[in-house]
Amino acid sequence: MSQVAIYSTPMTPPLQVLVTGATGRTGALVVQKLQQHPDQFTVRSFARSEQKANDLFGTTANLYLGDIANPADLQPALENCDALVILTSAIPQMKAPPEPGQRPEFIYPEGGTPEQIDYQGQLNQIEAAKTAGVKHIVLVGSMGGTNEQHPLNRMANGNILIWKRQAEAYLIDSGIDYTIIRAGGLQDQPGGQRELIVGKDDTMLAQPPDGIPTSIPRADVAEVVVQALLAPSARNKAFDVISKPEGTPQAVVTTDFEALFEQTTPGL
Ligand code: NAP
Repeated sequence: MSQVAIYSTPMTPPLQVLVTGATGRTGALVVQKLQQHPDQFTVRSFARSEQKANDLFGTTANLYLGDIANPADLQPALENCDALVILTSAIPQMKAPPEPGQRPEFIYPEGGTPEQIDYQGQLNQIEAAKTAGVKHIVLVGSMGGTNEQHPLNRMANGNILIWKRQAEAYLIDSGIDYTIIRAGGLQDQPGGQRELIVGKDDTMLAQPPDGIPTSIPRADVAEVVVQALLAPSARNKAFDVISKPEGTPQAVVTTDFEALFEQTTPGL
């Protein structure tokens, strides 16, 4: 986050933020970024595995163990929190290594379908946040939710992007301030080196700007989350986000996130 402006509020106490999916690939990056700014944030992690959390963060301080299927696990984690970052997701598993020339087949584990995790699990988080008096929810979702035929929806017939989008609609109607970040294809690449582009309703999937790939590094998504927690112009917005590939001529690396969020709009 070095060269990026952060919206400093020096006289206010740090924001208490709970990150769910904290041991996920993007969730862990968000936790680590928030931890770098103890003056701005006090971060709590919500995860299923103590071992995984300890391996990632070198500590289990401020770790709340639980399952998003259990509202009772969420309640203590959200007590006195100002903001919730939702980074949980159903995770498909390969059935078996594919035969040569065959496509791999996927299943969702029992209790881990998109309907259970990306819809009901997110509703549980939103309701628990409401009960706890949380003021802002930042939800990371995915582009593609307007298209039932999207390959990720067809995967194990899970309709994962459709369920995610239904949970987004629920969040918007919840009355809690929201920021919904629908990422393009996630890459494990360095962040802070690209121009980010925002859109809506999968229009960038249908027609990628300048034909660029509709992808974005996880580290950039994590930065968008951190900035959204602080920037007033991120409140009550939902948007798709992708990045120009590094080295794109005339691209300007995104550092002004207020300006980025100002390009986005409320509603699904
Ligand atoms: P990820 O690594 O798959 O992490 C998902 C997290 O959800 C994991 O930490 C997992 O816990 C947690 N989780 C799953 N079920 C849970 C449960 N019942 N209770 C508590 N936690 C549970 O995520 P990612 O790949 O960084 O993706 C972040 C978000 O971006 C997701 O919503 C994803 O769908 C979306 N997205 C992905 C892509 C892509 O290209 N992959 C593209 C656009 C958007 P464990 O750590 O214990 O497994």
